[in-house]
Amino acid sequence: MSSASQTDRKEFEVIAVGAGFADIGAAIKLSEAGFDFIVLEKAAQIGGVWQENNYPDCACDIPSALYSYSFAPNPNWSSFFAGQKEIQNYTLDTARKFGVSDHIQVNCELLNSCWNSEKRLWELETGTGRYSALCHYGLRPDAQDGYAGHQGYGYLHRHQLSLGRVEPQL
Ligand SMILES: Cc1cc2nc3c(=O)[nH]c(=O)nc-3n(C[C@H](O)[C@H](O)[C@H](O)COP(=O)(O)OP(=O)(O)OC[C@H]3O[C@@H](n4cnc5c(N)ncnc54)[C@H](O)[C@@H]3O)c2cc1C
Repeated sequence: MSSASQTDRKEFEVIAVGAGFADIGAAIKLSEAGFDFIVLEKAAQIGGVWQENNYPDCACDIPSALYSYSFAPNPNWSSFFAGQKEIQNYTLDTARKFGVSDHIQVNCELLNSCWNSEKRLWELETGTGRYSALCHYGLRPDAQDGYAGHQGYGYLHRHQLSLGRVEPQL
């Protein structure tokens, strides 16, 4: 596992940022390859878009048999296009089954990272601690402001919406 340096940075070979569906797959492969790694996740739960998006009828729009990890086929999908909850549970189960849950640090937002060319390490600052790694991936740094967030597509939904009429502006 990691070690803490004199500067109190937790050191890993690889640090992945984000614990979404793709990121969990990558974490499993890192684990199988024997890397000393950690996944930093800003949310309180893993799953990425599938834990964030829980609006009614949220579902996969490609067949679930294809939206699965090749190394973890699921013969029990309840429908052709599985719903959000089922995909989220599959992700959690797969992370547990392949032993990567303990490598994920939730409630840990990456705020900044920079390459220390002297030490030949990435130095990462998060809301809850400092880390270093030989390699890190997951988010694109914003040119000016450090990490602007994940650049994929995801939406936060308000569950309480009032319906109204929109009158045309003439
Ligand atoms: C409603 C919906 C339906 C979709 N349906 C399909 C589909 O049918 N087929 C398909 O192929 N794709 C679909 N997608 C696309 C989906 O985004 C990808 O399939 C996949 O789940 C993305 O996984 P990911 O791990 O790359 O990213 P994400 O799931 O976006 O995870 C990124 C993670 O990074 C974390 N994070 C972000 N910034 C930081 C930070 N600074 N520090 C720490 N953590 C951070 C986030 O909290 C999040 O957990 C859908 C997306 C949505 C929103």
